[in-house]
Amino acid sequence: MSSRSSGDFDDLLAANREFAETFDLAGFDGVAHAGIAIVTCMASRIAPLQMLGLTPGDAKIFRNPGGRVTPQALEALVLGVHLLRVERILVIPHTRCAMASASLEELRERVGASAGQDASWQSFGVVADQEAALRDDIRQVRSHPLIPESVAVGGFLYDVDTGLIDQLL
Ligand SMILES: [Zn+2]
Repeated sequence: MSSRSSGDFDDLLAANREFAETFDLAGFDGVAHAGIAIVTCMASRIAPLQMLGLTPGDAKIFRNPGGRVTPQALEALVLGVHLLRVERILVIPHTRCAMASASLEELRERVGASAGQDASWQSFGVVADQEAALRDDIRQVRSHPLIPESVAVGGFLYDVDTGLIDQLL
């Protein structure tokens, strides 16, 4: 492995060295100590652990644009439930999500304009109706043959303007 030192990440690596000075999670196992798994959006304004009163080690977190239950999210949830002690699953999309407020065409146009080239081939998981999508996602989790009924599954909406989470399902 060659070591890279372009300098692009120096500020972050410096911050990491400070972080490591008070690091106290060494030797920590990989299970979800609070028995929680969260599926939520990649949005930078969402702090999945803090918004639920959790800390590192408590939860498995799967994030993607829109906070959708994709095949990979299901893969993570199955692993979480069977190998990592997950007992409660929260699916948490959020208000003012870009994936729910733009059409596929709009996103392709905006990305294409930024890239200076055609982006019409790029797929984006746009959400036409957030509540319907959430219902669908929760149904997928609940009906998964490897996720037992003993696991609690909830569908929520995070309000990015108030910080409040509303349970919808
Ligand atoms: Zn989002």
